[in-house]
Amino acid sequence: MIIVMGSDTTDAQLDVVVKKIEAAGLRANISRGIERIVVGAIGDERKLEAEMFTPLPGVESAMHIAKQYKIVSRESHKADTVIDIAGVPLGGKQIQIIAGPCSVETQEQMDLAAKFTHEAGCRLMRGGAFKPRTSPYAFQGHGVEGLDMFRKAAQKYKLPIVTELMDARQLDAFMEYDVDAIQIGTRNMQNFDLLKAVGKINKPIILKRGMSATISEWLMSAEYIAAGGNHNIIFCERGIRTFETAYRNVLDVTAIAVLKKETHLPVIVDPSHAGGKAWMVPALSQAAIAAGADGLLVEMHPSPCDAWCDADQALTPDELKKLMGTLGAIAGAIGRTL
Ligand code: PEP
Ligand code: MN
Repeated sequence: MIIVMGSDTTDAQLDVVVKKIEAAGLRANISRGIERIVVGAIGDERKLEAEMFTPLPGVESAMHIAKQYKIVSRESHKADTVIDIAGVPLGGKQIQIIAGPCSVETQEQMDLAAKFTHEAGCRLMRGGAFKPRTSPYAFQGHGVEGLDMFRKAAQKYKLPIVTELMDARQLDAFMEYDVDAIQIGTRNMQNFDLLKAVGKINKPIILKRGMSATISEWLMSAEYIAAGGNHNIIFCERGIRTFETAYRNVLDVTAIAVLKKETHLPVIVDPSHAGGKAWMVPALSQAAIAAGADGLLVEMHPSPCDAWCDADQALTPDELKKLMGTLGAIAGAIGRTL
């Protein structure tokens, strides 16, 4: 069972709820979000009824949730959640395209990338400072220095920044550079200690799907973050591994529809790591928006052939601009804006 309380609930009011749960022999997990406090009753739920909690001061609602994922489930919160990324809303009527290079390379590359991202009409920028590479000999990212270059480049156009966190020990640096949305990559979707660490902060988290993860495992990973108190989670479908070798990963468009039913949280799509080739990105992007995605995470490089990482899949600035035009038409057709 979960008990939803207002964010202005007093400690004394919360204590009454917790005591009641414990008196029935269950354990209480308190998840303090910005907009609501969700108390999860863990144990034999048959001992609890919603009516035991709904009359109590501070309680907005109480309900049994059949699913294993609770706070992130549509059952617990019917309306779509809109997440604020440094003033840019994600999950509402307006679709957001997050564009930028795979990795932060040089200040000049990032300055140009920020300019082209802004000129294409995108309101958020991506770029990796800490890179999860298959080979230990490949470029691993500039680390904190990369965060510095990214922040400097993006602030000229007031673009909020999205970048990947691989290790909880880097969280202080991420907070120092005020990273606006933290990406958890496919390889870390089930790194539960990392999920617990980002569950304790208030920054929006973009949780990519593990490359072989089921939707239910993905939802449970989001629940780890939410259980810690961070309810600002965005799902990102980035393609899954199958027997097919004609492209990097299979973009699971069906997952968008399933997630929209199962969770109130926003869903975005990364068409770049799905296809793995720049020429596939427009078709996959259009399919994603038409299927109901709330946004895209797209790789764009000022000069793709010179990219240090994922050169094959990066759009040119002109290709990004053109893509934005076609996406605008699709957004309009389904009653949304770009
Ligand atoms: C990325 O977005 O740069 C990235 C490494 O993505 P993924 O975790 O989906 O492979
Ligand atoms: Mn990449």
